[in-house]
Amino acid sequence: MKITQVVCQVLRIPHVEAKTASSQDSVLVRIRTDAGLEGVGEADASPEVVKAVIDAPFSHNVACGLREVLVGQQALEHERLRREMHRRTMYFGRTSVTVAAMSAVDLALWDLKGKHFGEPVHRLLGGCLHPRIKAYASILFGKDGTETADIGRRWREAGYEAVKFGWEPMGTSAAVDVDLVRGAREGVGDATVLIDAGCVWDARTALRRAEAFSEYAIEWLEEPLLPHDVEGYRWLRDRSPVPIAAGEEECGRESFRPLIDQRALDVYQIDLSRNGFTDAVYLRDRVEEIGARLCNHCYTSPITVAASLHWLCTCRDAFLFEDCVEDSPLRHELTQEKVQAEAGWIRVPEGPGLGVTLNEDFVRDHLIAESG
Ligand SMILES: [Mg+2]
Repeated sequence: MKITQVVCQVLRIPHVEAKTASSQDSVLVRIRTDAGLEGVGEADASPEVVKAVIDAPFSHNVACGLREVLVGQQALEHERLRREMHRRTMYFGRTSVTVAAMSAVDLALWDLKGKHFGEPVHRLLGGCLHPRIKAYASILFGKDGTETADIGRRWREAGYEAVKFGWEPMGTSAAVDVDLVRGAREGVGDATVLIDAGCVWDARTALRRAEAFSEYAIEWLEEPLLPHDVEGYRWLRDRSPVPIAAGEEECGRESFRPLIDQRALDVYQIDLSRNGFTDAVYLRDRVEEIGARLCNHCYTSPITVAASLHWLCTCRDAFLFEDCVEDSPLRHELTQEKVQAEAGWIRVPEGPGLGVTLNEDFVRDHLIAESG
């Protein structure tokens, strides 16, 4: 089964707001083959930059766009293609958005593999241990503790037994920060509360906040520090009374390596649209080996939601699933199948490949750029 076409599509909802939410646009990578099958993947990065990584023409043996690398290759050879993509992008790749673009390709190749064999991806990854996973509603903070409490009540009433609040205005001051967490606990009641700081403190301030937040029995404190501060994370994790989670910014196994080697985190959050299945499986094995916990990171469309489920269900300890509940049509209408939690639990898709089908009318209506 040879790759004949690599299509890249950028989608965008009509009204994009200035907020920390990646469910307002998307870049899809659609790999077509001479067998008539198509695999679909997605990257969570800047869509137009991902598209440039796919589209770039040949410039040098190690500076080559991904379409140039992939067309004509055997679609089932995902590991060889991963090595080939890394080698042929060394002059502009190795980290960040280039690896995210490769991850979209990798998701599409596994979707293809599943369709070729007529099996769901989770079976090809080794087997599903958790046919359904407890989902947490993932949403942004309100402007203060009172509004955050109202948001918490809304998602409890929707059936979630766990809610995560994130980003602005966390980091404004000690009083504002503690008020937000107090509001979160008030709104969510006796269910699980998770707090996502959004990379706002130095390690010592983060420790003071972790100590203050521990009174509200939070399940984890996420991204208190800047992503590259591995020493800070290790220092903090050794002292914090609450578990420390991070990893959503990391693209690929090399990016995660210092965090894993230094045992810097309690919970490693892996985004499938920045790591692909191939690296996510590698990371699963490494994190399980050091006795830490795994969770998905996902704040985009049902393509990545489905991919995250196929992967997380193969992990030993799938204790929570991040379910983006942003009120964006891209989160809810991009696929024909609704990949959403019911009564706080989300089921792993069972169809071949990712087990989801693009809603082509939605794609057409939101398409702003296309190549391939
Ligand atoms: Mg986060």
